[in-house]
Amino acid sequence: MTAPQLLRFKGHPVPYIAAWSSETVPLPRVLAGPGGIGLVGHARDTDGVLWRPFGLRAGVGRPEYGTVHGPRQRRCMRRLLCQVCGGPADRDEQGVLWLLEDNRGEPGWPEQEMTTHPPVCSPCVALAADVCPHLRSKVVAVRVRRPVVDAVYGQRYFSERDAPIPGRRDVVLLGDPAARWVIGGRLAASLMDATVVGLPELRAEAGARVSG
Ligand SMILES: [Zn+2]
Repeated sequence: MTAPQLLRFKGHPVPYIAAWSSETVPLPRVLAGPGGIGLVGHARDTDGVLWRPFGLRAGVGRPEYGTVHGPRQRRCMRRLLCQVCGGPADRDEQGVLWLLEDNRGEPGWPEQEMTTHPPVCSPCVALAADVCPHLRSKVVAVRVRRPVVDAVYGQRYFSERDAPIPGRRDVVLLGDPAARWVIGGRLAASLMDATVVGLPELRAEAGARVSG
């Protein structure tokens, strides 16, 4: 197995789901209607979600590591692709590989954990743990037999005298009428049949594969 091909900027690998400066576009005008918000020039998808628009020009400009590129993030979630390289995420008999912030102190965790972070492939484990700020302090590897993409994370709005007023950023289930009041940024998945697995072994495996 060969090392995944990653875009680089000044020698540093750039994760697949990171937005580039050429891809961020101003938010179109937001409208408030009786059944939800609207974005001028943009339609809802088949799930009824309005998505924040992005350009598709990965590799052009400079990476904006703090901005997740919505269309690539959604592609990763729907197709279970690695968030770092965009290749197929690792899968074995225990399921698809995810890296999560370690919350093993919570009862029942990680079953039904909801995440907006797509899965990873084995060669990208070490890099993902390194470049993702939320994983740096405490990361754990989880195998998921049944990931269910079932929610949207984004900016909520409400209407005041027919004017759209931004509320908080939130996760709303697809199909919930409240989803019509969200400008979606990312898809979220519920991790069902989830099992914590050993990270050191994965790291060793990843190192072997990358160097091989
Ligand atoms: Zn990868």
